[in-house]
Amino acid sequence: MSSIFPTYARWDVTVQKADGAILVDTNDKEYLDFTSGIGVCNLGHNHPTVKEKVIEQLDQVWHVSNLFHIPTQEQAAMMLTEHTCGDYVFFCNSGAEGNEGAIKLARKYTGKWKIISFKQSFHGRTFGSMSATGQDKIHEGYGPLLPSFEYATFNDIDSVKSLVDDQVAAVMIEVIQGEGGVHPADPVFMEALEQLCQENGILLIVDEVQTGIGRTGKAFAYEHYNISPDIIVSAKGLGNGFPIGAVIGKEKLKEAFGPGSHGSTYGGNPLATAAASAVMSEVFRPEFLKQVEENGHYFMKLLTEKLTSSFVKEIKGKGLMIGIECTGEVGPLLTQMREEGFLALSAGPNVIRLLPPLTVTKDQLEKAAAILADVL
Ligand SMILES: *Cc1c(COP(=O)(O)O)cnc(C)c1O
Repeated sequence: MSSIFPTYARWDVTVQKADGAILVDTNDKEYLDFTSGIGVCNLGHNHPTVKEKVIEQLDQVWHVSNLFHIPTQEQAAMMLTEHTCGDYVFFCNSGAEGNEGAIKLARKYTGKWKIISFKQSFHGRTFGSMSATGQDKIHEGYGPLLPSFEYATFNDIDSVKSLVDDQVAAVMIEVIQGEGGVHPADPVFMEALEQLCQENGILLIVDEVQTGIGRTGKAFAYEHYNISPDIIVSAKGLGNGFPIGAVIGKEKLKEAFGPGSHGSTYGGNPLATAAASAVMSEVFRPEFLKQVEENGHYFMKLLTEKLTSSFVKEIKGKGLMIGIECTGEVGPLLTQMREEGFLALSAGPNVIRLLPPLTVTKDQLEKAAAILADVL
């Protein structure tokens, strides 16, 4: 009997301890974890440096509120602005909350009210971020949704053009759609999208909650494209398991987020920003990102060679964010993989999604590819 609302269909696994890419359950069974807490523990579980910095901060001060100056918050913001095209940061506690902040900032700055997002997108579960999400199953039972959102077709610039009018404040997009099936944006489309935004005074928001913090081999995935978004939203990997989110925006947006315009009690608290600073000092090192890129290529090559089953339709993704699109439902396969000690995610009914820790070894990638080949 559980006293928790049954919002999640949980797996039959209870984790006792975890280290790197290995989880141990309460029956002492070991798993190779290619879920990373859904793209959160990018540095692997129980990372020594992140742990050390959080413990150091625990010994000093946990929480003070944003009425105070917070040095770890300044440091984390500096690192985010140094590694993006943004100039200022607002900290919050999750991806959904980051997207809420981005929506508010775009509306306030432009004085317009519509936001264009995409079919099959995922932006979170709060009312605004859910309304931005272009998936019926996420909306079910909650209507009417906010009227400010319209959904274009991913990678189809004409579908965006047809929604543009003088009330559009922003376009919100995942550079690689995550929950919606691991669909990378097409470079020509992304450049055309940026141009369309610039021509119409529309802000470009990239939701990098899943794709950021080194996941694709760049600090943020938009860097694979020749674009410079106005607002970048980060969360998931930013704290390696410590809850934190961030809205990163360009200089011109500064006045729109003046004193009293937005806020969060916990946002950017000392513990969370100590964790985030420690994460970024590891992940944003050029050698680290290069390793992610190399391992991503290696893993993609292994999968392409080994997954010869006709059940596999397409393998796609970037860096260590990989989707294996199948011709049927993947749920039963994920269960079978768990029995064999391998943990993977789905993205929609037909896609196996792999988000290993970015610290994964070549041996572990080989082991994963072998289990996948076997089960598929
Ligand atoms: C997970 C996710 C979110 C929501 O993040 P939460 O921390 O669960 O609120 C938003 N956008 C994208 C792209 C995500 O993958």
